[in-house]
Amino acid sequence: MSTIVYWFRNDLRLGDNPGFKEACASANYLLPIYIHPNSNDDLTSWGFPRFARHSREFLQQSLHELRHQLITQGSTLLEFNGKPAEVFQLLGKQAPFDTIYCEQIQAPEELAEVNVIKNLGFNIRQFWQSSMLDPKDLPFDLREMPDVFTKFRQEVERRNLFYVEPISTPDHIPPLPLMSIATKLKEGLFAKQVESLFNGGELSALAHIDQYFESRLPDTYKQTRNQLIGMDYSSKFSPWLAFGCCSSRTIAQKLKNYESTYGANDGTYWLWFELLWRDYFRFLHFKYGIKRYRPQGLVDKVLNSFDEKKFQQWTSGCTGEDFIDAGMRELQETGFLSNRMRQVVASFWIYDMKGDWRAGAAWFESQLVDYDVYSNQGNWLYIAGRGTDPRGGRPFNVKKQAQDHDPDGAYRSKWLNAP
Ligand SMILES: Cc1cc2nc3c(=O)[nH]c(=O)nc-3n(C[C@H](O)[C@H](O)[C@H](O)COP(=O)(O)OP(=O)(O)OC[C@H]3O[C@@H](n4cnc5c(N)ncnc54)[C@H](O)[C@@H]3O)c2cc1C
Repeated sequence: MSTIVYWFRNDLRLGDNPGFKEACASANYLLPIYIHPNSNDDLTSWGFPRFARHSREFLQQSLHELRHQLITQGSTLLEFNGKPAEVFQLLGKQAPFDTIYCEQIQAPEELAEVNVIKNLGFNIRQFWQSSMLDPKDLPFDLREMPDVFTKFRQEVERRNLFYVEPISTPDHIPPLPLMSIATKLKEGLFAKQVESLFNGGELSALAHIDQYFESRLPDTYKQTRNQLIGMDYSSKFSPWLAFGCCSSRTIAQKLKNYESTYGANDGTYWLWFELLWRDYFRFLHFKYGIKRYRPQGLVDKVLNSFDEKKFQQWTSGCTGEDFIDAGMRELQETGFLSNRMRQVVASFWIYDMKGDWRAGAAWFESQLVDYDVYSNQGNWLYIAGRGTDPRGGRPFNVKKQAQDHDPDGAYRSKWLNAP
């Protein structure tokens, strides 16, 4: 009789979740859990909370929906607070289990968490399941991954790798083990809803994705993706992808079906291309690992210093540069920012305000509703010229960016005049 604990991490879904499906197939008893790390409540070394309002709400909605889906199938989701290793020790005492199954997250803190668990003698099986492509299909070992995105993309395209077929939801979820755990369910803790652009959860994710495709928005994606205002200029898939409410394979499959129905075009290709960037930043972690988290990143050059006053001006949208201030206010207000504005405000912090890129990356981590460790680190390193990009950094000319992307000032006026 085997008892498995399924530890949901950034994979808050039942569909296309190979780890969860295998746990269901292998267990006689299954205990689904989620652990809120204590570090979420910590202040970063730059002095602000690590996990702020927008992602907390999105997470809470996603967990709520996941629990509801599990309950309808005779199971549930238990939530714990604390260090994962301590949670498993507590669980082990109250409800002995054989193995922990979970998503593999190839970033230093998450790998360290798993190592501590292993060192305590627990069996743990990890499943790599957050990319669109399967690393096993690539024509190179991830440790020999091409450094430059274009080279990576060409290798992928040469082999016609588009995506991996998603797998179905498990037909049956094994029953819960008998136990008496004094769990602190957090239902209701975040009951106060504030107005939010996104609703967390797998069903909301699928509804959003279907609506995006039904509206035929992929056709115009390439032309609109650098716009700044509204819900339709880009897909807005990122919050659901970040928490794993849907998989990128599911999106890619829907994209392929869309192309079969309406035909492929620049827009559909570009959407896939952007999802490939997401994979690229993930896969680079297998090659460079913790080196991507050093202050200097992969490139030894002098670090900018940290000036608290300037940082305060940047984060609060009071730099005096209208375009930047509008972007930083949008970020704080909504937890979201277009890719264009992310690039421009990051560049401004690093190259105009001479700020430490790590503080900027940490601010994004705290504010973004779609914070994703691989994409955030990857994009900040890219702009700071500390990653694998041979151009050595991406400074943006703010005045030109404002002229090109906000010629009539509508974006600036929207956020600078917001109440
Ligand atoms: C400084 C900086 C920090 C960023 N931090 C994050 C982050 O924490 N989380 C995150 O998901 N994205 C991050 N991005 C990438 C990108 O800005 C967002 O993925 C995108 O704006 C999300 O909006 P969308 O879903 O409408 O994207 P779309 O333009 O519709 O693209 C579709 C999907 O492709 C992927 N994608 C698009 N652009 C990128 C990119 N440059 N890098 C990686 N994946 C991409 C995303 O999964 C996105 O949902 C960052 C970019 C910059 C410049």
